[in-house]
Amino acid sequence: MANTPYPESYYAASANAAPPRPALQDDVETDVCVIGAGYTGLSSALFLLENGFRVAVLEAAKVGFGASGRNGGQIVNSYSRDIDVIERSVGPKQAQLLGQMAFEGGRIIRERVAKYNIQCDLKDGGVFAAITAKQMGHLESQKRLWERFGHTQLELLDQRRIREVVACDQYVGGMLDMSGGHIHPLNLVLGEAAAVESLGGTIYEQSPAVRIERGANPVVHTPQGKVRAKFIIVAGNAYIGNLVPELAAKSMPCGTQVIATEPLGDELAKRLLPQDYCVEDCNYLLDYYRLSADKRLIFGGGVVYGARDPANIEAIIRPKMLKAFPQLKDVKIDYAWTGNFLLTLSRLPQVGRLGDNIYYSQGCSGHGVTYTHLAGKVLAEALRGQAERFDAFADLPHYPFPGGQLLRTPFAALGAWYYGLRDKFGY
Ligand SMILES: Cc1cc2nc3c(=O)[nH]c(=O)nc-3n(C[C@H](O)[C@H](O)[C@H](O)COP(=O)(O)OP(=O)(O)OC[C@H]3O[C@@H](n4cnc5c(N)ncnc54)[C@H](O)[C@@H]3O)c2cc1C
Repeated sequence: MANTPYPESYYAASANAAPPRPALQDDVETDVCVIGAGYTGLSSALFLLENGFRVAVLEAAKVGFGASGRNGGQIVNSYSRDIDVIERSVGPKQAQLLGQMAFEGGRIIRERVAKYNIQCDLKDGGVFAAITAKQMGHLESQKRLWERFGHTQLELLDQRRIREVVACDQYVGGMLDMSGGHIHPLNLVLGEAAAVESLGGTIYEQSPAVRIERGANPVVHTPQGKVRAKFIIVAGNAYIGNLVPELAAKSMPCGTQVIATEPLGDELAKRLLPQDYCVEDCNYLLDYYRLSADKRLIFGGGVVYGARDPANIEAIIRPKMLKAFPQLKDVKIDYAWTGNFLLTLSRLPQVGRLGDNIYYSQGCSGHGVTYTHLAGKVLAEALRGQAERFDAFADLPHYPFPGGQLLRTPFAALGAWYYGLRDKFGY
């Protein structure tokens, strides 16, 4: 049987120790079978266990093998499209509910870290950096919008102030969100897996769900076993393939790449990011970066539509890093890796129920560290019969990609090229 290891990355190289987790070899019976041990799956499992459910988690590879163990580690509030877009698309009542939840994911992460003593290098403070005056204007309205929903830990940064938090000459200003921040993403998800097990949940690694037998008593099949459950939560996101064809039709896996430099040393690291905040710029195809605990610059950016793995990641990402920080021209890149996130046409998450007992959340479109933690709570509430917040997400429209499975990749790439041009010329 295949034994899929973690892809090589800075995170895999600096992961906290984790116990071996054997593959499922039996028939087991439980209340909830969760498919996928990333943030969505484990956040759901934790909330369910805390509420007395029995839970078994099936993971095709290893805990955090997907985006949750490879991402930029940036705790970013709200959703991939902001609350004003939601307001225009679904109206004020639903937007009000979704707006109130837009800052909850970051709080959940901090609660989890504190409650389960998770060692994941958590730091407070995230900066949105504006490259153009138009982007700065957008940040000013974003601040007003977020404050309308009670989110007040925000500070606008003018050109002088942003130089005090990041040594990059590209920016005309920015916004600091002190409830943003950053983490070692793989160590967060490993800590959450340990918390699941401490509450009596079981996690089977190297155990892909290969078939779901739907019906009143659903059964999830793996190559060597099966799980009978009252409920199933599908949390495989961009790595799920065609297990649930209805979900595959409305989303598209995309790749994005990250590099980690050699350790920069305390002095250079402090010159680049004196307060150790993380930064993302405001472009449609954005660059994002931060320092690791051992003072490497972890820099990500770019999107590969259709999730093909690029041959030379360093050749794609290093020039972006040098554009922001020419002072790093002699610094070595120690790690380069790629990971997949799931894009939806609206760029809003897709949440719902198939039949009575199969629940899902997917497609946070590259902006999921906070949302996935919230999703776990909202799915667990729905299984407990409190579906108001679940319904607010489930009622968001799901659109198929134009061009179907065959043409969705070139169409989406064309759209991104257009938005990339707009960024370049400051529209
Ligand atoms: C390179 C990269 C950088 C990113 N940076 C950021 C960032 O800085 N900030 C931010 O907010 N968001 C970021 N994101 C997005 C964020 O990481 C994701 O939105 C989030 O981790 C998704 O979590 P998930 O649990 O839904 O999916 P995943 O973490 O992908 O987990 C899905 C899991 O399901 C498993 N699985 C799939 N199919 C099956 C099956 N059939 N049976 C069993 N198991 C299965 C997979 O092996 C995987 O472990 C980034 C994404 C990438 C790829």
